Amino acid sequence: MVGTVISVLFAIAIGYVILRIGFSIFRLLATPLPEPPPAGELRKVKLNFRCSSCGSEVRMTVATDESPDPPRHCMSEMDLVIEDE
Ligand SMILES: [Zn+2]
Repeated sequence: MVGTVISVLFAIAIGYVILRIGFSIFRLLATPLPEPPPAGELRKVKLNFRCSSCGSEVRMTVATDESPDPPRHCMSEMDLVIEDE
């Protein structure tokens, strides 16, 4: 009987430890991203980027400056698409 109580307590302790580890991993993943700069410091841009590996295109509409770093896709930087309008 005492053995059962001990194993139950042991199981609870193990469960608690696993829960704590899970929460610490979750907290690590949920690390807040750096605060975006105030709206006044952002520039409205209209840039298209194309992934040279798979051909996906994205449009950037707001950036921290007029020539922001290209986003990444397929592990490489995307190419700026010059569009005529
Ligand atoms: Zn891609």
